[in-house]
Amino acid sequence: MKKMMKKLALAVACVTTVAMLAACGGKEDEAKNNEQANVIKFGTNAEFPPFEFVAANGVIDQYDGIDMAIAKQIGDELGKTAQIENMEFDSLLLALQNGQVDAVIAGMTVDPERAEEVNFSVSYYNAKQVMIVKEDSDIAQASDMADKKIVVIQGYTGESCVKKMGYAYEAFKKGSEAIMELINGKCDVVVIDSATAKKYVGDNEGLKIVADDAAFGDEEYAIAVNKKDTELLEQINEILTKMIDDGTIQALSEKYAD
Ligand code: GLN
Repeated sequence: MKKMMKKLALAVACVTTVAMLAACGGKEDEAKNNEQANVIKFGTNAEFPPFEFVAANGVIDQYDGIDMAIAKQIGDELGKTAQIENMEFDSLLLALQNGQVDAVIAGMTVDPERAEEVNFSVSYYNAKQVMIVKEDSDIAQASDMADKKIVVIQGYTGESCVKKMGYAYEAFKKGSEAIMELINGKCDVVVIDSATAKKYVGDNEGLKIVADDAAFGDEEYAIAVNKKDTELLEQINEILTKMIDDGTIQALSEKYAD
């Protein structure tokens, strides 16, 4: 009898412990869920001025730029804190598919291949690829790149453009590295998005932009969202549309352009 009582007591103790553990776990999970519910995580590659770059005082932590201001406003309007996960451009869509981030805002051009993997919001910016060359360069159009040393940034639409043109090129991980290569005379031309090119040329002496509108197609930037997250896509579309219509995006573009 004594033995049975002992067993019973032990069983009760076990059950209580398990229940307590479960309760604790439950509370922790709840806190975690609440925390997640109040946060919207954006993936970016903060190497793309004026859209995203690292600054002493950014709009979201150390991250500043047009896209970062857009992300902040989306967070505010959703009643959530916008957080930034800075990673390589090439990793962004995978991070979105894995659920590591809720959305990607990275001056990302809508293209059919990417659209197979993720959903894109309405577009908020028009861009084009351009060529950055030294001021004394004889490159005047895209076909002049044929026998030149071309540098692109890995995974950017600039890379696919040059690839389609059939020219040999070298791909760098960062726009800033590509620009250093050009400044140091190790390459003849960098192909990159127009607004970013303008920023680099403004910040560095001896460089100029050569456009070839016939050779490079029009591009549109949009925010990427996981295909499963249709509700978030709708919310982002609504906020972005408002920001386009009321001139906020235009004002941000002007603010960060200089
Ligand atoms: N617009 C280019 C692309 O989508 C580059 C974007 C970026 O570097 N952030 O590939």
